[in-house]
Amino acid sequence: MSPKELYRKFRTWQKSPIQYKNKNEGVHHCANCGHEFEGNYCPICRQEAGDGRISWIWVQQSIMNLWGMDSRSMPYSLFQLLIRPGYFIRDFISGRRQVSYPPVGMLFGVAVVYVLFLQIMGWGGTPAFEIPDTTTDTASVHGTEPNLSLFKTVFNWLQDNPGWGMMATTMILILPTWVYFHHSPRHPRHTLPEGVFIQIFMAILLLVCTFLSEISFWFSLLIPFYFYLTYRQLFGYRFWGTLWRLVMTSFVWFFIVIIIVLATLFPELESPQEVIWFATAIVSMIAILAFILFIGYRIGKTTEKRRIKHAGNQAQQDTNSPEIAK
Ligand SMILES: [Zn+2]
Repeated sequence: MSPKELYRKFRTWQKSPIQYKNKNEGVHHCANCGHEFEGNYCPICRQEAGDGRISWIWVQQSIMNLWGMDSRSMPYSLFQLLIRPGYFIRDFISGRRQVSYPPVGMLFGVAVVYVLFLQIMGWGGTPAFEIPDTTTDTASVHGTEPNLSLFKTVFNWLQDNPGWGMMATTMILILPTWVYFHHSPRHPRHTLPEGVFIQIFMAILLLVCTFLSEISFWFSLLIPFYFYLTYRQLFGYRFWGTLWRLVMTSFVWFFIVIIIVLATLFPELESPQEVIWFATAIVSMIAILAFILFIGYRIGKTTEKRRIKHAGNQAQQDTNSPEIAK
């Protein structure tokens, strides 16, 4: 098979790798509730067909189940997420929920492994970003200072809990992603709750990338790569369309982070003049942000209209051309 053919085969697999089949033909008698049924599971009590006496296979499955390594196993979901991120997320949010191990469980599973590995290998002693400590208290043990500002407390806590930390980081992307990719060709009109799950999957990917970048700095290049790959596969914009929207999305992310940081500094202000200055700064930043988002939304809407019109023309040409041929 030529490399080109192999690649085409891989692309087909990437778009839809999972086939479901009825593993258990015929009528079953449920060992749990006594119901007669066809198919893989009892419709009354959900017990699997064929479950009866305990076999070695069942012992093995039960143990694997503890780590999410049973049928739609966590490692396999993770593998799919790494190999076909956008298509995998599209499958999940468009209703094919069984393709994935529950994503929140997967995120925290990966986080546990991440922390465990760092501790075993003795890595991660120096966090990538450390906020200089300006408090001159006697109790200067990490994280226990009574005068620690709200922002620092939250920041430290999120760094110590990478699952929540990564989730907090990506949740800020929900709004810009919704605005810039709302009129996308492949998955248009995605809802905000869908956005939550898109970002949970992104958090898993980022956590894996951060983990790999502990091994070698070069792996951190995977982060922009995965953002591009995922958004392109999921939303179906072409190269430049995906790129500029992603740049704007990260810019808005950065902007929102700054606004949040400024807002947490509010209680530390002393004079009323400072408060007024601060409030003005924050309000104007929110106004600029709203304007940038609005422009992005309008551009998405216009290009969608143009695309639909173009597709309509194309369809019309296709229906006209046979008559011309006559
Ligand atoms: Zn039953």
